[in-house]
This record gives sequence, C-alpha cells and structure tokens, in this order.
Amino acid sequence: MRAMVMDEIAGPLDVREVPEPTPPPGGVIVEVHATGLCGSDWHAWAGHEELTLPHVPGHELAGIIAAVDPAVQHFSVGERVTVPFVCGCGTCDWCRSGNAQVCPNQQQPGFTHAGSFAERVALHAADTNLVAIPEAVSFEAAAALGCRFATAYRALTARAGLRAGEWVTVVGAGGVGLSAVMIAKALGAQVIAVDRSPEALVAAQQLGADHVILADGRDVPAAVGEITGEGSDVSVDAVGSEQTCAAAVLSLRRRGRHVQIGLLPTETGLSQVPMARAIAWELDLLGSHGMAAADYPGMLALIASDVLRPQDLIERVVGLQEAAVLLPEMQRSATPGMTMINPRIA
Ligand SMILES: [Zn+2]
Ligand SMILES: [Zn+2]
Repeated sequence: MRAMVMDEIAGPLDVREVPEPTPPPGGVIVEVHATGLCGSDWHAWAGHEELTLPHVPGHELAGIIAAVDPAVQHFSVGERVTVPFVCGCGTCDWCRSGNAQVCPNQQQPGFTHAGSFAERVALHAADTNLVAIPEAVSFEAAAALGCRFATAYRALTARAGLRAGEWVTVVGAGGVGLSAVMIAKALGAQVIAVDRSPEALVAAQQLGADHVILADGRDVPAAVGEITGEGSDVSVDAVGSEQTCAAAVLSLRRRGRHVQIGLLPTETGLSQVPMARAIAWELDLLGSHGMAAADYPGMLALIASDVLRPQDLIERVVGLQEAAVLLPEMQRSATPGMTMINPRIA
C-alpha cells in the first residue's frame, strides 16, 4: 500500500509502497478515507516525540474497517469508524473507568506505531477505542475530531466546565483554537480569539468569535481586560509556548480556569508558567490530553444535529504527495483551518 514515510528526523518525507499491515490482537485494520494534518505531526517530525524510524505519521482519521482480529467483539468489516488519537489498552483501571486518554499503556497511531498517512492503518484494542460514525457525519468531519476538535471539546466541557455567558479567551486560532472558538460559542460563551495572523482572526470571527486580538507585540492580558473588565473566566493556550501560555493565564480573572492544550516541548521537560499569579488569584491550571472514545457520543450527537460543524474547519483536501510537502512547513505557514488528507487520491 502507499504511505508517507519519515526516514529521518526533520528530513524530507517520502511517499512510497510499504508492506500491508495486519490486525494486532484485539485490533483492526481501517481503510483510511480522511486523515487530518495536525500540529502534533509537525512536533513528531521535528523530533519532539520518541519514534522508531522509518515511521508513518498520522493520528486523526476516519475510514472503513477492512480486517478484524478474531478477539474483537463489537466491530466488523465494512463499518465506518473513527478513533481518538490516544488509544487505551482496554484492560487497566483508567480504561475501565472511561479515561483511556490517560492510559499508562496507551498506543497512538502515528506516534507509537505506524499512523494514518497511508491507505490502511492498524488500530489497537478496537472494542475500547473505535467509535462508529453516525450516518449524518462525513469521513472528513469525523477525522477532524480525533485530536484537535475532541481535545478542544473535552478541554472546555469536562476540564474547564465552561458555562453559558462566561468569557473565554482562546490563544491561537489554528485547528485546535478554531475548534475551541466554535465549541465555546455553541456552549453559549463569549469568545475572544487571539492570534498573530490577521487571516486566522478572520476565520475565528466567521466561526462566531465576539472579539479578536491581533497579537502583534501588544499586551494581550491588558487587551482582554479592556474587553471583559476583570479578565476571562476561562483561558485556553491552543499554541503551546511559554509566551502564549503566559498570555492566556494572565488574561484570567480571579479564580479563573486555564486549560493547556498546545504542547510545550522544552529541552528540560519543564516550562515556565506564571505560578505567582496562579497562587494569588487562585487560578486552576488544567491539562487536556485528547478524549476517550467513551466520551464521544455526546459530542457526536451535537455534530449529527448540526450544532457543531467540524467540517467547516476544513480548508483544503490534499493527497499524500502534497501533504508530504506541507507537513514540514506547518509551523511557519499561517494558513487558518484544517488540512485534510485523502490517501486514496494521488
Ligand atoms: Zn494532533
Ligand atoms: Zn489502559
């Protein structure tokens, strides 16, 4: 089958024939119909994750089950499915309690094993991790959920507990940030979007952001304060840098809640966070790491009923060859919205 292969860290990506995968014990093979190009693919390419080379990236996906291991009980060949990017083992206490997103024995397609930038992908612990796609939801919309949209959904609902009427500041209006803007508006919040790209802010406004702040060297917390009076109830860093994290945290009002979604890779594994403010103002600093398959039904119901429209975040659909050129450029280019890959087109 054809796949996008990474032979070295931060090197060129090659689209070529690779051996067909077979279902792992308790797992399946999915024929990939749509797979998203995500910021975390760039982090893996840049060497911020442990990988075994050569490697096939790709972790946001939707498709049709092509083969099933005999141990799988609840899924069969031909079903339309998607999967969270964190696949739990299915047997530990975390998985049994519905928290596969923090499973200590987790698998992640595109990180711990070959991913979905290929015609077919192997997925582990199918009964725990697969999610059937409702008929009303397209492959593209379902693939958009796997990492960025579901993480933004869980960050705002289960982690921050966002309520209607509250102020939320979203720093970064890329795929995950725009997802957060759309979800926060659907939850009835008042949304401020922050980005350094005017185009990204236009996209945020089209998705319903009430205010936008161009982060061109200006004091973001002060600008949020001017809009909200006392600061935001909830802040989200959808970028992942010490600057954007600090801007988000310092934009909060007293007793506000911050959710860190953007990855913060540093040499030491430690990141600077304005902890003095967190203490003095009793801020909650929260992390969010994807969302377990067990929590998908609520989100999928909102998508099937058109309250949430992840498909509106998709800017373009490309083939593997074009994606291989786009991936290394991701961090530099400021194109708003999501890029979706269809591995079945040239
Ligand atoms: Zn991702
Ligand atoms: Zn587990």
